[in-house]
Amino acid sequence: MQTLFHEIDKVKNEMVQTLMELVRVPAIAPENGGEGETRKAEKLLKILGEVGFDKIERYDAIDERVPSKKRPNILAYFYGENAAEKLWIITHMDIVPPGEESLWTITKPFEPLVKDGKVYGRGSEDNGQSMVASIFAVKALKNLGIKPKRTVALAFVADEEQGSKYGIQHLIEQGLFKKDDLIVVPDGGSEDGNFIEIAEKSALWLRIRTTGQQVHASRPHKGLNAHRVGMEYAIALDKMLHEKYSLKDAYFDPPESTFEPTKKEKNVDAVNIVPGEDITYFDCRILPNYDLEEILENIRTLAAEFQKKTGAKISIEVVSKSAAPKPTDPNSKVVKMLKAALKKSRDITPKVGGIGGGTCAAFFRKISVPAVVWCTIDETAHQPNEYAKIENMANDTKTFALMAIS
Ligand SMILES: [Zn+2]
Repeated sequence: MQTLFHEIDKVKNEMVQTLMELVRVPAIAPENGGEGETRKAEKLLKILGEVGFDKIERYDAIDERVPSKKRPNILAYFYGENAAEKLWIITHMDIVPPGEESLWTITKPFEPLVKDGKVYGRGSEDNGQSMVASIFAVKALKNLGIKPKRTVALAFVADEEQGSKYGIQHLIEQGLFKKDDLIVVPDGGSEDGNFIEIAEKSALWLRIRTTGQQVHASRPHKGLNAHRVGMEYAIALDKMLHEKYSLKDAYFDPPESTFEPTKKEKNVDAVNIVPGEDITYFDCRILPNYDLEEILENIRTLAAEFQKKTGAKISIEVVSKSAAPKPTDPNSKVVKMLKAALKKSRDITPKVGGIGGGTCAAFFRKISVPAVVWCTIDETAHQPNEYAKIENMANDTKTFALMAIS
């Protein structure tokens, strides 16, 4: 283990250079006005070519919206003693836009800069850090002539930030993954690397539209105040959801389901008008124990009661709904391997649990392939002055290498 770790420390500078090279090539989704991942994929293929993988494959998804008409996905294999068993490390090439440029005070988003042991730039942490760590885990093993116990398969995917249709979903459709594959998605984690995500909550976004009758505020009895009914309903709904779905699960952070009234659409322009329409939104993050359809039914039943009571019309529109897949078994092999590697390399006993979700791992859980989300990050993703800590990148490289050989 010491020789391996020493080797990884030796290539640390090279890792930093590689990360900077990747940050220089933006890969922004067409939804955000970008050209996709083609240029980044070309850069990456050059980098991978120098490592000497046993096999490199491309699975492009057709996308007419980008200049190349393709959303690239790259797989790189380093064969192990047991060639049939695969340890997949899955990272994404695409990045989110830099946002307000003036907020980038350390360096420009695509002009990476090393400062205080950190590499600054858009995409440096999300997902460049883990991408480079996975490549150099293989490179370090190759440099030392160590054949891994199992095949290490690296996947570099497109379209993660916009729903993964052209990325991991496309790869899954090709039938590339098997039930006993070991899947690591290093695209979420904690500062000290002590949290392994195996579960996620369901998400339900609602738009609640209450219709009454607009009238002059001095004669409210002539109309029907939709704002009042909307507020009353929202408060009753908030109460009902919290009381009825109050289960706590210590696996999750926070441990309970959350139901939050959030956005409110603008109504009338003047103080002296009774609004005839009221539109409110709810963001609900629900423990996987609950059935979303049953919850929706209760939401609609309550709306019907209010309609009857007030004469207003309340319609519930589902803006977004995604049922959480069954959590990855905390006793599955990939969880055990990662725990053992963390214990051995960093003396960490990680917490295993669930958070918000929303990574490539969800798609594996949907097809019952165990998947963990883990890496060591300061969580600067999607923010201005995003950075990757070089120490974290090196430590995660060690963890990946250890998982490959033990
Ligand atoms: Zn990410």
